[in-house]
Amino acid sequence: MAKVIKLIEKLEADHFLTKEEFHLLIKDISDADLLYLRERACIASRKYFSNKIYIRGLIEFTNYCKNDCFYCGIRRSNHNVLRYRLSKEDILQCAQTGYSLGFRTFVLQGGEDSYYTDDYIVDLIKSLKDQYPDCAITLSIGEKSYDSYRRFFEAGADRYLLRHETANEEHYQKIHPPQLSIQNRKQCLWNLKEIGYQVGAGIMIGSPYQTVENLVEDLLFLKDLSPHMVGIGPFIPHHQTPFAKEASGSLRQTLLLLSIIRLMLPGVLLPATTALGSIHPEGREMGILSGANVVMPNLSPTSVRKKYELYDNKICTGDEAAECRYCLEGRLNRIGYQLTVDRGDHKPII
Ligand code: SAH
Repeated sequence: MAKVIKLIEKLEADHFLTKEEFHLLIKDISDADLLYLRERACIASRKYFSNKIYIRGLIEFTNYCKNDCFYCGIRRSNHNVLRYRLSKEDILQCAQTGYSLGFRTFVLQGGEDSYYTDDYIVDLIKSLKDQYPDCAITLSIGEKSYDSYRRFFEAGADRYLLRHETANEEHYQKIHPPQLSIQNRKQCLWNLKEIGYQVGAGIMIGSPYQTVENLVEDLLFLKDLSPHMVGIGPFIPHHQTPFAKEASGSLRQTLLLLSIIRLMLPGVLLPATTALGSIHPEGREMGILSGANVVMPNLSPTSVRKKYELYDNKICTGDEAAECRYCLEGRLNRIGYQLTVDRGDHKPII
């Protein structure tokens, strides 16, 4: 379809399309045109990042959560989860292991767990920064007040990941309990940006009730927010959630959106996620070959890995940090990419 090729070229040149054009591209793209789109996205990524892929060490430090998101395996109402919390010493230990493996970014992710007060998080950030001044700290601990975000930033946190999950209010309400709102989620992202964080937004592909219109709205929101990072991966059902019987998001749709996002936000840091690797044995490689440029191997202690189960059949839950790191490096090398150990900050494109 010549029309779709024109849209791909327009997206590559202008980094934007109209609502109608995005809709057409997502809905009508053929397999052959998708290959072309992925190739253009890969070229765009190589232009800015060469064949370098950044690694981030993910430390999943708590699976307690006060929220009850319908899709998430560690939601409050899932009483079958064996809950755990890592102590400050455990977290510093993970960082030490990571540091010796070459990690220069630590991502602290968890459920929304009030056990970790703001003072606790501030102290943790300061200790990490004290011991590893050359490392970036990324937080991914959900919705907090402006003041809390400011305190974490002042303590030394550099980045914050908070997927918006869906930009559409109606869709947001269908996958979250009434206590949560898209207005607050979006406001948090704007606050984080204003404070000075490198910010990551994002969505699950194929989450229940998601439509092509929703995806277009997500793209328009991402363009408007212009985040430094975009986390997207397929939705995967968890058997102990209300969405247990729903279908997973598809590999094809995830690769399509990765490529569109790369061309729309050429300098963005875009991970090939664990969820993508969980729906296909070569999912992450295909993600890289669609424009992704970040991988986030797990640094959590093996004893807790299986307990941070957001979705079923998550990969790498039995591996040591070192195994994950070297496994990924081998995977990247085999497709012509290199793992890079610097902090990998977002650089504006001039
Ligand atoms: N509490 C933090 C971290 C949430 S977990 C926060 O609110 O940001 C990180 C991400 O995992 C979520 O933002 C969501 O997009 C993703 N996730 C949760 N359940 C999932 C599932 N069943 N399939 C795929 N991704 C999921």
